[in-house]
Amino acid sequence: MKRSLAVARLWLEVNSFSPIPTMREDFVAKEWLRGSGVLDTFRGTPTELGALADFAARHDDWSVHVFRCAAAEPGGPMDDALYEEFLDELRRDLAGGRWDGVYLSLHGALATGRRPCADRDLVAMVRECVGAVPIGASFDMHANLGPEMVELLDIAAGYKTLPHIDMHDTAAKVLALLDRCVRGEVRPKGSLVRPGHILHSFNMRTTDGPMRELEELALRRSTGPILDITPFGGFPYCDSPHTGASVMVYADADAAAADAAAREIAGEVTRLAPQFAITRPGPREGLEQALAAPPGTVAILESGDNTYSGGIADTTGLFRALVEMRPDVPCVFAYFCDPDLVARAHAAGIGGELDCELGGRVAPEFGAPVPLRASIETLTEGVFTNKGPMQRGVEVRMGRSAVLRSGSIAVIVTERRQPVNDLAYMELHRLPLERIRLLCVKAKNHFRAAFAPHCAQVLEVDTPGPAGIDLGRLPYRHADRAALV
Ligand SMILES: [Zn+2]
Repeated sequence: MKRSLAVARLWLEVNSFSPIPTMREDFVAKEWLRGSGVLDTFRGTPTELGALADFAARHDDWSVHVFRCAAAEPGGPMDDALYEEFLDELRRDLAGGRWDGVYLSLHGALATGRRPCADRDLVAMVRECVGAVPIGASFDMHANLGPEMVELLDIAAGYKTLPHIDMHDTAAKVLALLDRCVRGEVRPKGSLVRPGHILHSFNMRTTDGPMRELEELALRRSTGPILDITPFGGFPYCDSPHTGASVMVYADADAAAADAAAREIAGEVTRLAPQFAITRPGPREGLEQALAAPPGTVAILESGDNTYSGGIADTTGLFRALVEMRPDVPCVFAYFCDPDLVARAHAAGIGGELDCELGGRVAPEFGAPVPLRASIETLTEGVFTNKGPMQRGVEVRMGRSAVLRSGSIAVIVTERRQPVNDLAYMELHRLPLERIRLLCVKAKNHFRAAFAPHCAQVLEVDTPGPAGIDLGRLPYRHADRAALV
């Protein structure tokens, strides 16, 4: 008789400091699926579900039951009602069968409005449903995990690369170990040690630097009874009692070996922690540095409100400094999301004048609105086709937009949040780079792919925001502030 594997997935990296919750439509836009068709959809992709499709194809002794699989782009806390609906559905699904194993694909930095440790709550619910049936789980490197996770899970592992190019390998490893566990070939014992450091991800690439050292050590140490060692960097913007780095180790029938390895590598995290700390200049200092840069366009990145890190296109730290300095060179600010202001601009028409309050609309705690009298320079329907390199040829519809002009400063205002990562975005707004000296933009890493080759310099500045560099400024409610590095 075939063994039965139950599968579910809930993958979301939460920025607890974003006031915009992650709702059903955010999942529907990316992934909100269930049923055997999921395997066909993801077969051949470098993802967890791609690995599951391979596992199902290679193991005809297992029948694989795919329950809800949900993923969304990084954003604010998951809507509580939606999360409870997910749990209820999975509880019913698990109650409807007899299982030999369960595989969960999780991020590890999931929180809802009410639940700071939503991944743990999900795993605890599954454990309650299936009793002693082996459960395996895979996690993102940016997971914030507590020690109870290894008590709840029989086997688990996390990504070991940043950028994350080993999602498939991680899930494949967990599924293979889960299979061996069910067959009685291994008896995994887990240990999770939290060294007590909240680390930045700016310097967490595994191509070089401290995280590469940790990964290399973990690999060297993975001998004898050790089944897996994952050093987790953690995600500083997801506020939970477990925010921060951790080291998770599973060893075959040897709890002491797991514990010793986890402690040893946690000690290395402590040694290397200062290398993850970074500082950036404030907005005024950043603008002055930019004005002193060689000729050409200088990009000034306000990463604390980066759309891809759960930013809200609403903070005013950099914009206020720009308006106060009013450099006598062509300046562009990209962007504020403000549907009402876009509507007013479209109603007034090109050449019209508006008294505006820019930013500070959704979250004035990150900076009050900045008043500005501006004329309307350009109006658009917000449709363009990416020139690449990212998503070349893909059409983007970001709602309507407007360019407001006040002296040397042009401000882009949009109806929806849309990361600035393609030159076609600038062309749509008739703001070609070669005519811009200072390009102030809410961005961090992805922006660089298209823009950096055309910029004389790219600078980052530190301003208050939901993804700010100065973690000490964030209103943590659950995390251990003493762990900030
Ligand atoms: Zn990650």
